[in-house]
Parts: sequence; structure tokens; C-alpha cells
Amino acid sequence: MDIKTATHIKFWGVRGSIPTPGSGTVRYGGNTTCVEVRCGADIIILDAGTGLRKLGQSLLNEFKRQPLHLTMLLSHTHWDHIQGLPFFAPIYESRCRMRILGCEGARKSLEEALTGQMKSPYFPVPFSELPSNIEIDELEDFDFALGNVLVSAQRANHPGMAVGYRLFSPAGIIVFFPDTEPRQKGGDPQMIQFCQDADVLILDSQYDHVEYGKHNGWGHGCVDDSVTLALKAGVKRLILFHHDPDHDDRKIDSLRRYARKLVAKAKSKMKVEAASEGMVLKLTGKRV
Ligand SMILES: [Zn+2]
Ligand SMILES: [Zn+2]
Repeated sequence: MDIKTATHIKFWGVRGSIPTPGSGTVRYGGNTTCVEVRCGADIIILDAGTGLRKLGQSLLNEFKRQPLHLTMLLSHTHWDHIQGLPFFAPIYESRCRMRILGCEGARKSLEEALTGQMKSPYFPVPFSELPSNIEIDELEDFDFALGNVLVSAQRANHPGMAVGYRLFSPAGIIVFFPDTEPRQKGGDPQMIQFCQDADVLILDSQYDHVEYGKHNGWGHGCVDDSVTLALKAGVKRLILFHHDPDHDDRKIDSLRRYARKLVAKAKSKMKVEAASEGMVLKLTGKRV
């Protein structure tokens, strides 16, 4: 029997733009973008928003005194995707080795964009004084392997340089596109192809269609277009992601309900969830 290693996806930060603590966001969570993917011994961290802080605590608890090898894939260097890095406890541990991959920051190298936020007067500990071993590399090749996971990157339609990732693990396909706007109504062919047959599509669905009408060209998508794209690409499970800072739990509930109605109307069995902090998805390699 072919026993495949399960892949786990855990959501540590699901919010876009800025952290939103408060009573209205308790259920879905207020931390910005951070998702952990585990495939066997490989630990891949998708983005370094403020959700990264709790992931760091969890990793140190789990690994105690053992060496910690991590890979971080960054979609881009906007604040909500990098601000957790200075508060990621493993970077203060010499037993931590981490490789950070991403595209260049707008008008700066990736390294400058990441380490600049740790310079005075923004932060007290300069990057150069960290005891951990961190390597920062700009993506040269948009197709590469991380352990057992094959990764492809694709440019997002978002201000500055931004990408999304497709992770092909032995247990299933994950596509992570936290910040992007559809290039055309009805889904552009390039995106449909990139998301094709994904078991899990984590997709920027920041707006409802009325809000989207007022934010055309801002680099974010709406729930209607997310559902259209996911259906056309034959996705198994769509995860609404990068929640608007002005959306409270009830609004996100209603967006999820609305998305599910669209799916039912299309007579599809695709599952739709709205990402929430702490949510875990397991891929087993079984086609559902
Ligand atoms: Zn963002
Ligand atoms: Zn952005």
C-alpha cells in the first residue's frame, strides 16, 4: 500500500493590511498573514505577518533544545507580510537555521527590505546581531524544490513585486495567493492554470463585490471572483483569506455564507471556508 506522508496546514494570521485586535475579531483573529505548512520533517512558513509570533513560540515549545530548520516563503514585503519577523523567537536562538525566499522589495533588495525594519529607530536589535543563521535569497528560479515539496511561484497582480506559491506535496496541492486582484473578469487563464486542481486554495478575498467596486486597482480581490476562479480551476477547497481590517466576525460569516451559496448555485461540491487563526487542514493524498 502506498502510504503518503500527510501534509498539515495551520493558519496563524489571516488578516490583511493591519492587525485588528478587539472583541469583533475574536473568532477569525486579528493577526496578519502567516501560514505554516508541514510535510514530514519539512517546515515551510508562508509569510511573516504578526501571526508569526505565536508560531515561533509554538516551534520553540515543540523542539525544545533541538536544532530547528525552517524555510520561509514570502509573497512580498508589504508590512502585513513581514512585521512578525522581528518578533519571531527562533531568530534569537543559535540552533535555528532559516532560509527566507521571496522576490525583491519595491525598489530595494529583499534583504534590505527585511533587515531595514530592524534598524534603529524602528527596532532595538539589528539583524546583524541575531545569533541564528538566516539566509535571505531572492527568487531566481520560479520553480524549485524544498525537501519533498515542489514549489512554483507566479507574479501576483498587486502593487510592487508580489508572488503567489503553488506547493506540490506528496499529499496534495496547496496554492497560496494572499494578495492579488483578478486581471480580468471571470478569471484570467494564467491564474486558472496556476490554481488547477489545487486541494487547497488560500486566496485573497478581501472585499465583497460592492466594496470591490470602490477599490478597483488596489491589488485585492472579492469573494465573487475568488469563487469563480476556484470553480474554473477545479479546486477542492477554497479558503477565503486576507480579511479586510474593517470586517468583523459577523461580516466574515456572511461572506462565507454568500460564497457557499454561489458554489451551490453552480452545483459544485467545492468546500469553502473563511480562514481563522488556529484552523488546521490536513491533506492525506486521498482524492475527495
Ligand atoms: Zn497584504
Ligand atoms: Zn500587499
